[in-house]
Formats: sequence, C-alpha cells, structure tokens
Amino acid sequence: MRYITILGATGSIGTSTLKVVEQNPQQYSVIGLAAGSNVEKMIELIDRWKPKYVAMACPEAASKLADTLKLNNLDTSVLSGPEGMCQIASLEESDTVMAAIVGAAGLLPTMAAVKAGKRVLLANKEALVMSGQLFIDAVKQYGAELLPVDSEHNAIFQCLSEKVQTNLGYCDLKEHGVNHILLTGSGGPFRYTEVKDLDTVTPEQAIAHPNWSMGPKISVDSATMMNKGLEFIEAKWLFNASEEQLKVIIHPQSVIHSMVQYKDGSVLAQMGEPDMATPIALSLSYPDRIEAGVQALDFTKVGELTFLEPDFARYPCLKLAIDACYKGQHATTAINAANEIAVDAFLNSAIKFTQIAMINEHVMNKVCEQYGSDELDSLESLIELDNISRKFAVKYIEENLS
Ligand code: NDP
Repeated sequence: MRYITILGATGSIGTSTLKVVEQNPQQYSVIGLAAGSNVEKMIELIDRWKPKYVAMACPEAASKLADTLKLNNLDTSVLSGPEGMCQIASLEESDTVMAAIVGAAGLLPTMAAVKAGKRVLLANKEALVMSGQLFIDAVKQYGAELLPVDSEHNAIFQCLSEKVQTNLGYCDLKEHGVNHILLTGSGGPFRYTEVKDLDTVTPEQAIAHPNWSMGPKISVDSATMMNKGLEFIEAKWLFNASEEQLKVIIHPQSVIHSMVQYKDGSVLAQMGEPDMATPIALSLSYPDRIEAGVQALDFTKVGELTFLEPDFARYPCLKLAIDACYKGQHATTAINAANEIAVDAFLNSAIKFTQIAMINEHVMNKVCEQYGSDELDSLESLIELDNISRKFAVKYIEENLS
C-alpha cells in the first residue's frame, strides 16, 4: 500500500491522479489533498476521499473550508497558507507526493516533500526550472525518489536504463550509450495559423489544445511552445543532458511522447494515447505497472506519424527558453517568472498572445544584464530573483503594453 498526498488536487493533474487511484483501490490510500483556493471542489474531494489532512494555500479559503467541515462534523484537519502547504507535503503518514501545483507556488511545498525523503512525482516543472541544481542536489541529499510525470520526461525515463532511472540528474548519458534525447511536442493549436495572425488569437483559442486536456496556464504555454522550452530545461536537469544532446521535434499527432537515440542507431520511443493517466500510473507504481484506465493505441487507426523542425518565428518563446537553459540559473528563473506574469496577463486579455514572448525576452535580458547565477545558492535567493523578475515583467507591461 502506498499513502499519497496530492498537491494541486483540484487541478487537471490532481483529477487524473485520483482517477488512477480509483482504478487501484487496494494499492493506494489518499492521506492528504492540497489546493490553492477552490473550496467547493475541495469539499467534493473530501467527501469522496476522506483524507486525514487537507491544505489550502489561501488562508481565507482554509478558514472557510474548516468552518464547513466543522458544520458537517467531518474530522479532516485543515492546514493553511504556504506553511500548511509545506506541512502537508511532508506528512509522516504519507510516503508519496504528487507535486502538481501550477507555477512557482509549487517550489516550496515540492522541496518540503523532497526534504522529507518522499517519492516525489514531479508534474510541477516550474519548480525544477526555477531551482535546477539545488533541487536535484536536494533529492540526493535527502534520499528522496524523483519520478517525472510530464508525459515527455516520463516517456524518456521509460526509454532509459534502470541505472539512469534510479540516479536522475547525475548519470553521464554518454556512458550509457545515449546520443540524443528527442523531446516531441504537438505544436499546439496554432501550428498551422499564419504567423501574422497570431497577434489576434484569443485566450479561448489558445487554451483549446488539439490533443491534450490540461489546465489554462500549461495550455497557453503549449500554444507558445514555452511549455516545450520549460521541458527542455526540465530535461537538462532530470537527465543531466548537454545542449547538444537535447532536441525538440514537432510531432502533431502526439502518439510518440518522446524518444531516446542510442549510439548504435537504435531509437526507443514511448507511445500511447495522449492521456496523463499513463505517466501518472507509471510514476505511482514504478518499477511495476498498474491499470491507468487508458485504452491501448489502435495502430490501425493511428494513421500517419509526421515530424517537423520547430519554426522559431512561430515559437519565439521556445527559442528564448532554450537560450536561457544554458545561460544559467538566473536566466531560467527569470524567464519562468516573466512567463507566469505574461500568461496571466494574456488570459485576462490585458496583452496580446505575441506579447508573451516580448515580455519573456525583456525580463530575461534585463536579469542577465544585472545578475549572475553564482549567488543563487539558496531557495531564498531563487525566490528573491523570481520576485524581482515578476516586478520587471509587470513594469514592462504597464509602461509598454497597456
Ligand atoms: P491546473 O491549473 O489544472 O491546476 C493547478 C492546481 O494548483 C490546482 O489544484 C490549484 O488549486 C493549485 N494551485 C494554484 N495556485 C496555487 C497556489 N498558490 N498554492 C497552492 N496551490 C495552487 O494545472 P495543471 O493540473 O494543468 O498543471 C499542474 C502542473 O502540472 C503544472 O506545473 C503543469 O505544468 C504540470 N503539467 C500538467 C500537465 C497536464 O496535462 N495538465 C501535463 C504535464 C505537466 P485551485 O484549484 O484551488 O486554484
């Protein structure tokens, strides 16, 4: 039996995780559920899963939830605020933590789970992007077990040897015969839109992903391909990959979820329906396999598989993130923070789709002019740079884009 805590329980990954747990009731027990502010959804989840603990990052939401539970005589303990998120991530009663909070808000709770030596199922890529080496070192130092949930990284993980799988972030890929890691991406909803028309696309169009059903932030990131850029950075850290070893390929059908090219000419690919339940199931059950409730691929219906080079004129965010990846930690922390502000502004119709890249570029360049990565040796320093970058982004929007 595994005892699970889900951070981001009310979101898309949280929902898929609970679906997988539902398929395997003898093997998993839900101990803790955490979210930001969605009290209504959390009440539904408490009713269904009866967790011992819940946490809400928003203190008002936590106190509203505690009042409702009291009225209904439910004895689930309610933890509150950022501290409560870290407490629930490191519960003694739980051995497995799904890290699925969206954005930088996930960093401290995910690190709390790492420091408590849990099996950490990492969906929250932004946490790794903004903390890089510090995160990977903490996994080793505290004896945590890191399993990638992002479908691409989970696919790559499945195509690597056990030695690499159990020593993420530290193996020399060359020594294990790996020449390249091929990160595939669908290209999002605008892969056939004229570049000149991207100026006028709406948030509704941007979040309508052709193949995957996901939360709003990652859906916009998929439309700009910033998501693939963040995944490029994530892959660097998880697999200790050099710039030359990582390649991005557009694969519109999303049948292959990523590949590993070996020096003998073999290419291993992981394939399946585009359903997050598959990588979530593997991360829960590794090294075994469990039911995920996902249909096997029907190859007679798959049709043609196509592959294209990414076009950086259409996807400037992808190029910026790849550049940031090997500039240093200051650049990746900055671009991640800028992107969160920019996507939020776009979703609120305050800026155009194409201005997301302008904001990201401005903030990354400004941070790279003024800061280095040497001083980024603690969580506090990373969070401070994240805050500075957010301020640069807000100022740029106010002064140039409003
Ligand atoms: P959603 O927007 O669907 O869900 C986000 C979750 O985070 C919700 O539970 C939300 O709670 C919670 N949350 C938001 N803000 C805070 C905060 N400040 N503190 C604590 N919790 C907070 O996102 P997704 O599930 O799509 O994505 C989650 C993560 O997984 C992201 O990092 C994404 O990149 C990654 N990922 C997602 C994939 C997908 O298919 N969806 C695929 C691969 C990776 P509330 O509902 O209360 O706001």
